[in-house]
Amino acid sequence: MDFYVARANERKRQDFLNSIRLGKLENYVKEIKYINKETDYCMDVDCHFATRNFFVPNLKSTINVYPLAFDNNFTENETDFLSVLIDHECFHAREYYQKPKITIPSKKLTKVETAIFHLDLELRAYHNQIRMIKTGRDVSETFLDNLESRLRKKERLKSFLGQEGVEILTA
Ligand SMILES: [Zn+2]
Repeated sequence: MDFYVARANERKRQDFLNSIRLGKLENYVKEIKYINKETDYCMDVDCHFATRNFFVPNLKSTINVYPLAFDNNFTENETDFLSVLIDHECFHAREYYQKPKITIPSKKLTKVETAIFHLDLELRAYHNQIRMIKTGRDVSETFLDNLESRLRKKERLKSFLGQEGVEILTA
């Protein structure tokens, strides 16, 4: 099943998603679901927060894929698409599954600490994308530019929020 067929024909998108092989990452992903809904983001993960900061471990995640994921302004080609799906969203799914690898705060977090906790989750996923690009995921230049600017924005936000509590939140 071809990415460009799925891009052109909405009804082929679930078939395309079903045809993607995740390899070992299948251990962390229950399903990849196409959802025809307008969003500001292209994919997300249903994760298993017991509270805002605590994950329920050893549960497989569902990855939701939205129309924006097939938008030419966001993904120019299949490699861009796979960078988001595999190197970012599956990375989240793996972290959520392997909760013990994420340092779980032992006290109730403030709003700022919670925000930093979530920013760190995002930053780790972005850094994984960059790592995979450096080792051969050959994404388009536009995609890489967008990725770097989103990463910088998150990093600025994190330093704006301050360093308080960071050491207990960083894996
Ligand atoms: Zn993310």
